Amino acid sequence: MTNGIKVVKFGGSSLADATQFKKVADIILSDKLRRYVVPSAPGKRFKDDTKVTDMLYACYDLAESDNEGYLKVFEDIKERYNGIIKELGIELSLEDEFEKVKKNFLNKAGRDYAASRGEYLNGIILAKYLGFDFVDSAEVIFFNEKGIFDLDRTVKVLSERLKKLEYAVIPGFYGSMPNGSVKTFSRGGSDITGSIVARAVNARIYENWTDVSGFLVADPRIIDNPAPITTITYRELRELSYMGATVLHEDAIFPVRTAGIPINIKNTNAPEDRGTMIVANADEVIPPYTITGIAGKKGFCAINIEKDMMNSELGFGRKILEVLEGNNISFEHLPSGIDTMSVLVNENSMGGKAERILQEIKAATNPDHIELEHNIALIAIVGRGMRKQRGTAARIFAALAHAKINVKMIDQGSSELNIIVGVSDDDFEQAMKCIYAIFVDTVEE
Ligand code: ASP
Repeated sequence: MTNGIKVVKFGGSSLADATQFKKVADIILSDKLRRYVVPSAPGKRFKDDTKVTDMLYACYDLAESDNEGYLKVFEDIKERYNGIIKELGIELSLEDEFEKVKKNFLNKAGRDYAASRGEYLNGIILAKYLGFDFVDSAEVIFFNEKGIFDLDRTVKVLSERLKKLEYAVIPGFYGSMPNGSVKTFSRGGSDITGSIVARAVNARIYENWTDVSGFLVADPRIIDNPAPITTITYRELRELSYMGATVLHEDAIFPVRTAGIPINIKNTNAPEDRGTMIVANADEVIPPYTITGIAGKKGFCAINIEKDMMNSELGFGRKILEVLEGNNISFEHLPSGIDTMSVLVNENSMGGKAERILQEIKAATNPDHIELEHNIALIAIVGRGMRKQRGTAARIFAALAHAKINVKMIDQGSSELNIIVGVSDDDFEQAMKCIYAIFVDTVEE
């Protein structure tokens, strides 16, 4: 049973300066159910600006190597916060906090501690401005000895704490280790904190406020003005995030997913926009297009192996995968024919090991032919609407053939949720454009 509570997370650009803070406060205070707020550190105010998190890392690195230059960066950081406080006109001094942080920098408290101060200090300001309680995330978000986030312990402690507070600000991005030291999630991790808080209070919805009105069907750097995605399932989003769709940290889905709490991506600068709803099950929502989204990445390579009678040779695939495993490489796809098999891997992960891997596969399988093919791009065409729909693959391949694009690989997951095609890096943008056009620009019956 959920309780109507909304947990709201605001990204760095939403809290970059006092003007943005005011928009955020308007959004929060316009709805009494927006009770728990997770802020990021102040982000960029303009294109070439520096995020406070990056300033903190730089400052700490200088302090740690006893470079006096850290003082100048520290002053710049103070200036960012003091500027916000002054313009908001609130009665608050962070001087004692700044002194503590400086002392801890000199005592080499660690880079995670340093970076976490971005959200910590911003959280204090936001709580004061809103009149909400402030909860230090180090007291309620926990990692285990191995540095792995401890969901059970966190949910227990955090939910108890928040039960006692009607309105609170809980800074994003960090928690604490069993020894009390501060640890952060990976970059962009405030999204995860928001999801954890939503889970702990069993929220009705987790609103993630950023500077775009949700996910788009395709990358706007490739497709002009792509259509927005209004509803997407967690599973579809996983597929797209893996292939490079950003906006939300990919680990932010897990805490809310099992509890079935939807995530709504919203735009602080256009709060009326519906944004994207991320849900467990969207069976009742008829998708506007057969596909929900397209995403892709360049930089893969294929190990192509040919051997007569491969199909009847027991353990052939295993031997190849063992070589990869032995070299600490995970594979992306494994398309195969009767006498051929290709293994797609991320080019970067191969490092300088490619030649050795080919030799080891040769020794293990004695193939008729083996080659390494570079510069492959993978495109994931994702959509719950594809399930049980006839002709989707045909449309993709007709569109690619029409554009004279050679398809190097095809993979359809058994869930029928996605079709992945491999094309040459050079054809990547064109392939994205024609797949988008065939599903979105062409009026579908
Ligand atoms: N401030 C952190 C970063 O820049 C975390 C976040 O904003 O989510 O990565």
